[in-house]
Amino acid sequence: MRTLLTALLLAITLPVAAQTIVFENVRLINPDNDRIGEPTRLAVKDGFIVAADSIGEPDIRIDQEGLLMAGLAEMHAHVPPMRLGEQQVHDTLFLYLAHGITTIRGMLGETGHLVLRQQLANGEIAGPRLITSGPSFNGNSVSSPDAARAMVRAQAEAGYDLLKLHPGLWPAAFHAIAETADALGIDYSGHISTAVGLDRTLASNQGSIDHLDGYGQKLVPEDHPLFGTEPGLFAVNLVDGMDESLIPELARRTAEAGIANVPTQSLIENWAVGDIDALMNREQMRWIPPETARQWRERAEQIRQQYPGDAGQRFVDIRRQLIGALHEAGALILLGADAPQILQVPGDAIHHELEIYVASGLSPAEALATGTTHIARYLNQPAHGCLEAGCVADLVLLEANPLDDIRNTRTIQGVMRAGEWFDRERLDSELDAIAERASGNDGQ
Ligand SMILES: [Zn+2]
Repeated sequence: MRTLLTALLLAITLPVAAQTIVFENVRLINPDNDRIGEPTRLAVKDGFIVAADSIGEPDIRIDQEGLLMAGLAEMHAHVPPMRLGEQQVHDTLFLYLAHGITTIRGMLGETGHLVLRQQLANGEIAGPRLITSGPSFNGNSVSSPDAARAMVRAQAEAGYDLLKLHPGLWPAAFHAIAETADALGIDYSGHISTAVGLDRTLASNQGSIDHLDGYGQKLVPEDHPLFGTEPGLFAVNLVDGMDESLIPELARRTAEAGIANVPTQSLIENWAVGDIDALMNREQMRWIPPETARQWRERAEQIRQQYPGDAGQRFVDIRRQLIGALHEAGALILLGADAPQILQVPGDAIHHELEIYVASGLSPAEALATGTTHIARYLNQPAHGCLEAGCVADLVLLEANPLDDIRNTRTIQGVMRAGEWFDRERLDSELDAIAERASGNDGQ
């Protein structure tokens, strides 16, 4: 049930798109249902979906006979640091939006991102709604439990939406963070430090585990020689010792703990088994500055050394089984691809991530739910990720049905962010301008 109060509170933080817009002959995609609806009319007023018969002649009428879905959220995204310049930051934000992503959770924030969050909310910058963490909590930034407590309080006071956990934390520091954050009611999410481990995390109120971190260690039986050895990045060193029969129990415990997972599986698949040449030659790379692309290739080739023989494929297969099992057990999966990490083009990466969820056993509708209804549930913001009167008008108009083939999420005809409409022409002209700027950008 969407309360009027929620709508009023949201209205204060939304851009004023004082327009009425009507989509004619659209079929609605509801992730709770495997079938699309009959052609209908969807009306938008002041940034919200309203009852179709509540407005007369609209300011804008869109009649493209497409399919409408709620805008997607990317829950492990990165906004570049402001020191790279406003233009590069704005271009990255637009790439997300142009690919149907209307909410991002920035997983490495800074003071400048708080300003950005407000500018995006005001509609001063074209981009997704921003949820941002502060600077990361890790083995270097947190020197003691007391320092951890002070850092939690400072970030909560500064107004960050969540705390980002990175590797290197000791249990005492993790407990100090968890306890202080719980008391202040602020989310803490991200990595699982090796010394902390999955058991302590599942016993905490951590919001999301990102990258399926911490699971690999728990898949190695205690009597295996690799048990307790240096795990490497996301436990890649332990692949030979992992026992898949332990997956369902870990999934069950995660569901029971009520902790969500942001798999970022496309990132790991690109690193472990992706065709680096083909990835570097994708058309989407035109939005990435050449110097960044050069660094991506160099790093990707280095990382590939960590996956000798068939270790990469086995690692990918185990992680896909884990995604399927988590979903099966009822643990919340949240869509996230970690762009613009190495080889992850902002916006584009999320569509690859969706394909992988389907390959891991989710139905296309269930995969779409990871980026829409699951996010609304996780954030306790029921006016997001939905297509009913009272919902925020964050929408994606598609040409083809993603319930038939999840790759159809790429057939974007237009995107609406809080009532502001970006048609294909507008998206393309800005995407061309971004490519143009990227080609002349030799910085980072
Ligand atoms: Zn990240």
